[in-house]
This record gives sequence, C-alpha cells and structure tokens, in this order.
Amino acid sequence: MPGELGAVVLAAGRGERLGGAVPKAFVPLGGRPLLLYSLETFARCPWVGELIAVISPEDEELFRSRVEPHLHLPERVELKVAHGGEHRQDSALLGVRLSRSRWVAVHDAARPFFSQDLLKALWETAREHRAAVPVLPVRESLHELGEDGSLRRPVDRERVCTAQTPQVFERELLWRVLEEARRRGERFTDETGAVLALSDCRPRTVSGEEPNLKITTPWDLQAAEAWLRAGLLEVDLPSSHR
Ligand code: C5P
Repeated sequence: MPGELGAVVLAAGRGERLGGAVPKAFVPLGGRPLLLYSLETFARCPWVGELIAVISPEDEELFRSRVEPHLHLPERVELKVAHGGEHRQDSALLGVRLSRSRWVAVHDAARPFFSQDLLKALWETAREHRAAVPVLPVRESLHELGEDGSLRRPVDRERVCTAQTPQVFERELLWRVLEEARRRGERFTDETGAVLALSDCRPRTVSGEEPNLKITTPWDLQAAEAWLRAGLLEVDLPSSHR
C-alpha cells in the first residue's frame, strides 16, 4: 500500500576514513552529493511515504543548500530532517522516533547504489516476517583474532554472511529494540544486530547486491566514480544534475 514505508537515511557520520573537505554524505559522486542518491531511490519507491534524513546539526546548511533543492519528491513523500547522535545507533533511534510509518527501512547514506528491485524484495519479505536484511556470502577466508594480533582459529565462512542496508523492519519492533539497547548501553553495528540480540524476531535474508558497496575509503569513492563513468549502473539522475 502506498505510504506505508518510512525511509530513515543515516548521514550524520563524519566519514573520517574518506578524508575530504566536506562530511561523507555530502562528498560529490558523479557531480552530486552522495546522500542524494539514496534519497532519490527511496522517493521513487511507490510504498515510501516518508523520507527521514538523519544529519549532523552542523550540516543543516549543507543539506538545505546542496541536497534539498535537488531532491525530486512526489506528492506522497514527506521529507523530515532529524539531527543525529554520537554513534550510528543513536542516529538510527533518533530517525526511527520521528517516523509515523508502519514499516521503516534504515539505510546508510554511504551506500548510493541499491536498486528498486532490492527494495521490493526487502519490503515483501519484511511484511511477512517483520524484518528483512540484504546479505552477501563471504568470499575471503575468515579467522578469529587473538588479543596479541595472532590468529586463533578458522571461522567457517559458510555459516556467516555480510549484511548490507537498507534493512526493513516493523517500526514498532525496531523502535522498542533500539530504545532497549540505549537503556542497556549496548551498541550494535547495524539494526539487525540489535533485533537479533534484544528480541525474538529472526530477520529473513534476501540476496544483497554487489554494487551496493559502502563507500568508506577514497579507493571506494574512485571505484564508484569509475562505475558511473563506465555506465555500469542505472542511476536516474534528476534533471538538474544531468
Ligand atoms: O561509521 P559507519 O561507516 O558505520 O557509518 C554508517 C552510516 O551511519 C553512514 O552513512 C554514517 O553517516 C551514519 N552515521 C550516523 N551517525 C553517526 C555515525 C554514523 O548517521 N553518529
């Protein structure tokens, strides 16, 4: 149904590993700020009725001048801005608190290239199982590290996977879990971690996407630029950026 899904896009990190003159979410990629890519993809999804951009209070001006004017919002989509917290999880909670949707998708602004197909698969799976997360198999070998930096034992990579975003949840479930994590002072690297640890819900997986990389280092940014230039990705650029 239209308007049932709220998208919480986390963009309040400083992105120190990327360097650069502006915070990561505002770094130009193909001539437009990184954050704009995921906001546009969510805005085009017919079930999204709410876009919640979670930004640092210091970046409000950057958001108003470089992102908001270029965002093409259909009438069904309401844009909200939340100020993020110290850690990713604090930012997620502050965004989720602002949502009024029955379902929420929490997403890292650092991942500009997820597809409408992925969002559809997540949405359909979450509605049946309360929570859905995109995952990829692990390619490398995995070993547990000891405290002195030497390796301790191999980890069977068939039993683990890496998790991407967007991750889609029943809002009530995620909100309860994130409030509980805050009360306990427990921190997780993604929302699925909090849901697994603090509820009886077992999120379902859907196949993640190779191009849905998390831009973290300057190398990642250059790779993303090269993919765009080579036309390897179908990105719908708003006309003001063409
Ligand atoms: O730090 P990390 O790479 O895990 O950040 C993932 C996402 O979470 C990024 O898009 C970043 O902007 C966001 N974040 C946030 N608030 C923080 C820290 C990170 O919104 N305090």
